[in-house]
Amino acid sequence: MASVLGDTTCSLHPDRQSTARCPTCRQFYCAECITEHDGRLTCASCLRSRSESSEKGKMERRWVIAPFVQFALALLLVWVLFYLFGETLGDVPDDFHDGTIWE
Ligand SMILES: [Zn+2]
Ligand SMILES: [Zn+2]
Repeated sequence: MASVLGDTTCSLHPDRQSTARCPTCRQFYCAECITEHDGRLTCASCLRSRSESSEKGKMERRWVIAPFVQFALALLLVWVLFYLFGETLGDVPDDFHDGTIWE
């Protein structure tokens, strides 16, 4: 039984038999054209477009901070509300308390 790769040639080198298939673009490549990146086989052109997209991802990563900022703002808002709530409790006159809770 012939291997799946047996009849295929490198898409960049038609005279060479392919040794691997790029999982990203599904093209066959020879050992020279295929490289390993992050533990995954990838061809040179995919590696290039991948590094380009990761640079793009770096720019997009800045916006990932937004949820954390929103969380911090929400936390601050909650803190301010609790602070004002505490201030309101502090303004309650002492004779309001009948002492049952404290004694
Ligand atoms: Zn590829
Ligand atoms: Zn090749």
